[in-house]
Amino acid sequence: MVCSISCLSLRLFLSAAQIGLAIRRRTWQNRRMAYRKLVALFVLVLACLLGCQQQGRNSYLRTPPVFKFQPVRGQIIPRSISRLAKEANIKIRMMPRRSKQRRGSRSMRPTFITIHSTANHSPSSTAMQHSRALCQGAFTNRSWHFTVDQFMVVQNLPLNETGWHAGSNAGNNHSIGIEMCECESRGHNHFRTWDRSAKLTAVLMKRYGISLRRVVPHHHWTGKNCPMPLMTNGRPGPKWGWFLSRVDYYYRCINEGRSNR
Ligand SMILES: [Zn+2]
Repeated sequence: MVCSISCLSLRLFLSAAQIGLAIRRRTWQNRRMAYRKLVALFVLVLACLLGCQQQGRNSYLRTPPVFKFQPVRGQIIPRSISRLAKEANIKIRMMPRRSKQRRGSRSMRPTFITIHSTANHSPSSTAMQHSRALCQGAFTNRSWHFTVDQFMVVQNLPLNETGWHAGSNAGNNHSIGIEMCECESRGHNHFRTWDRSAKLTAVLMKRYGISLRRVVPHHHWTGKNCPMPLMTNGRPGPKWGWFLSRVDYYYRCINEGRSNR
């Protein structure tokens, strides 16, 4: 895209030079033709630029101005656990008990929450689609507890059962795995996915007495660049700090809620 824009800009410059030459030599017919060329090329460049902007609108990578990772400064709005869980919109689609990935699983009392992202940018890779694929055994030797997109959370495993998501025994045996979708359909909003994941994480922290320092990225267990959109140069940085501040905000909302049911 960048290459084609540079090429067009060059042609635009050449046409402008052609017009200048035509004016100087007073060859009016050439000048009219050159004008037409210039307008056509200008329209093309404008269309390319608008196309780039539109493409960027759906991407967290290309449009940092759309979303700034700033700390949450909103007023605490007290909420009960059930209210926050309702806001997260949790659906259930459990992996079949006899599925290969669940055969070797063990019982677990979760003490960590591990955050992942799917690294799948296909427009159809929603939470429900991922869950469906997981239930059909599409992911060999992999399983996790929740899949989140901008509209819903889908639970795939019981929370007292280990999954295969962290790449280490310590991570798998002690943590709840949350996969955040990265699908990029038109109008998709990654912020909503991250915010929904933060709500879910706060609910789980409260339910299992897990502290914020035990909410970790996949990177914590194996050094993997995951969840990629929230890592900075492959490591936890300001964006991960922002996510934790969002989780903390919702956790404080629950703590100040009238009811902790
Ligand atoms: Zn991961």
